[in-house]
Amino acid sequence: MLCPHCNREMDKKHGRYRYRESGLDNVWLKDWPMFVCRKCRIKMPLISDEEQMAKEIIPRLLRTKARLNGDSIVYLRKALGLKTGELARRLQVHRGTVSRWENDKHTIDREYDLQLRLLVKDQIFPENRDLREDILRALPGLVSQPASPLVRPSMPPIVVPAEASSNEMPISGSVIANNDV
Ligand SMILES: [Zn+2]
Repeated sequence: MLCPHCNREMDKKHGRYRYRESGLDNVWLKDWPMFVCRKCRIKMPLISDEEQMAKEIIPRLLRTKARLNGDSIVYLRKALGLKTGELARRLQVHRGTVSRWENDKHTIDREYDLQLRLLVKDQIFPENRDLREDILRALPGLVSQPASPLVRPSMPPIVVPAEASSNEMPISGSVIANNDV
């Protein structure tokens, strides 16, 4: 594998990678196989397929004991294959409400947070009863955060272990190595 910037041979390593390509800023790949350019410090993690990664990320996101932030809501909505207006209809809220959640203009209410998680669970992991239990168990954590405007819920890190990598190809968009700062 040659570095896309300087054309040098890259080193194959395992390491930590902040998987911003997911659209979430709190997803970390742990001990993950990747190519690294010693000169440019570019890291290219080996990621087989976005859909497979989503199957690893979504259950971890649904179990998060913190109110969903805007990026997470966008991520889950896309996983459901819904547009903003469609999600609004499913949750029986105004379309503008979903937009405000997604833009972190207003924190999602606890009830809708839970509804959204269960919607995703039922559609993407219909057979997974444990996940449903875990989501309900995460509920007290959701209560503790006030749904105040202009406060972006801080999401704890989601760590995806290397076992989840079936590493076929490096992802096309290369990322500067100090992306994890
Ligand atoms: Zn390079």
